[in-house]
Amino acid sequence: MIAAELRELVCRANRLLAETGLVRGTFGNVSGVDYDAGVCVIKPSGVAYAELTTACMVPVSLATGAVLESTLRPSSDTPTHLELYRAFRCGGIVHTHSEAATVLAQARTPLRCMGTTHADYFRGDVPVTRPLRRPEVTHEYERNTGLVIVETFRAAALSADEVSAVLVANHGPFVWGVDPFDAIERAQVLEFLARMDLAQRTIAPDAPRPDEWLVDKHYFRKHGAAAYYGQKR
Ligand SMILES: [Zn+2]
Repeated sequence: MIAAELRELVCRANRLLAETGLVRGTFGNVSGVDYDAGVCVIKPSGVAYAELTTACMVPVSLATGAVLESTLRPSSDTPTHLELYRAFRCGGIVHTHSEAATVLAQARTPLRCMGTTHADYFRGDVPVTRPLRRPEVTHEYERNTGLVIVETFRAAALSADEVSAVLVANHGPFVWGVDPFDAIERAQVLEFLARMDLAQRTIAPDAPRPDEWLVDKHYFRKHGAAAYYGQKR
């Protein structure tokens, strides 16, 4: 079986995603990648999370998007995942319509970095994309969703390693990490942060931002070469 280990891992990750409460029905998906093999593995389209098995995870070519050794259709969002893997070289991607993050996406409003809880995971605001234009929606919509995410990061000179999430305008969040489970953890944190930002906008919409050096202190004590938070691995 192609990518047997990755299929097993991505299956477990999708079942875990269902347990987080971030997804309802068949919304959402998790994928993983093996760059050496040139394969991305993703949830099949429209299959209930409870019915997912390792065998029904769908491997696709990272280069072409062609389905490899499966009769099932991959998630309809697969072309979005592929564009993100090609551009960001991340290890796993999660897409949800989690409530608070989707509220911000629908308001076309970035998730603001207002404190150290945010800075522990994301170095600054989580951006929102521009809305897709009509031709981008009618033709290759899912691929264009990925391309507009990449465009958002390039235009703002954002590092996809340091800000590992985005809000797609009028749609919802995509979150990535070093592997599918890391991406799920970040998706959970993103939703928690979005709830806090929404609450803060209600009680103090003009509250001052944290200083940049405080944000960087918290981000870099957990990430990068000089990280010292937690235990050595
Ligand atoms: Zn979606």
